[in-house]
Amino acid sequence: MKEDILHNLTIINNRIKNACEQSGRNIDEVKLLLATKTVSAERIKVALKHGQILIAENKVQELKEKYDDLKDLPHDNHFIGHLQSNKIKDILKYDVTCVQSLDRLELAEKLHQRLLAENKTMNVLIQVNTSNEESKFGVDPNEAVELTRKISHYSTLKIKGLMTIGLFSAETEKVRACFKILKNLQQEIIHEHIPNVEMKELSMGMSGDLETAIEEGATIVRVGTAVFGARIYPDSYYWNEGKTNKKA
Ligand SMILES: *Cc1c(COP(=O)(O)O)cnc(C)c1O
Repeated sequence: MKEDILHNLTIINNRIKNACEQSGRNIDEVKLLLATKTVSAERIKVALKHGQILIAENKVQELKEKYDDLKDLPHDNHFIGHLQSNKIKDILKYDVTCVQSLDRLELAEKLHQRLLAENKTMNVLIQVNTSNEESKFGVDPNEAVELTRKISHYSTLKIKGLMTIGLFSAETEKVRACFKILKNLQQEIIHEHIPNVEMKELSMGMSGDLETAIEEGATIVRVGTAVFGARIYPDSYYWNEGKTNKKA
């Protein structure tokens, strides 16, 4: 198990390096984030003990379950799943350092209130739905600038950039179009000079499309399967949650 993970990490780091060379980018500009949904704390530890520092969960429940096992190893924990307002307390309790999936004002408001009460701040990325798929969370690209502007008024929320899940497609150019939308939005927001908003981070690209994402400017690639192996749950279980189960 350990050998597999380390071997996979070597391959991923090479892919990142090659993609950076291809697109004339410095390797220091791209961070590898390990998407650890369904992965046991034991397996995550292997990665953390061998140079990895950035991990992320999709569900608060998993964050909670693995917290004690991982807390003694230095690392940064981001949150990349659909966040329900009633789980905000836990996000703070389990030391999440960045919520990458902020996609609505109402959630920002509640997060801000909680942070104020605890005298804390939180890094956030605005999640954009660039693939125009009903099943995915994220703000509509046409509303992203406005949402960013509104969220910027919450002093506890430190906007660091944008996040997206690209289209699931074997057609690279269609996937690339999603990443271009995110990059263009980033540029647009930078030109707006909104106070309290930094737009350095572009979190995009996963196991199957990280090269394309890096070519289009990704600063964080989120990789799960290619490091830890296939998952038994389909991704829709994580990405549609709350949409498909929504009570009328
Ligand atoms: C699972 C997940 C990833 C990683 O996907 P892989 O295809 O396993 O690399 C990236 N981002 C999000 C939001 C995820 O839920």
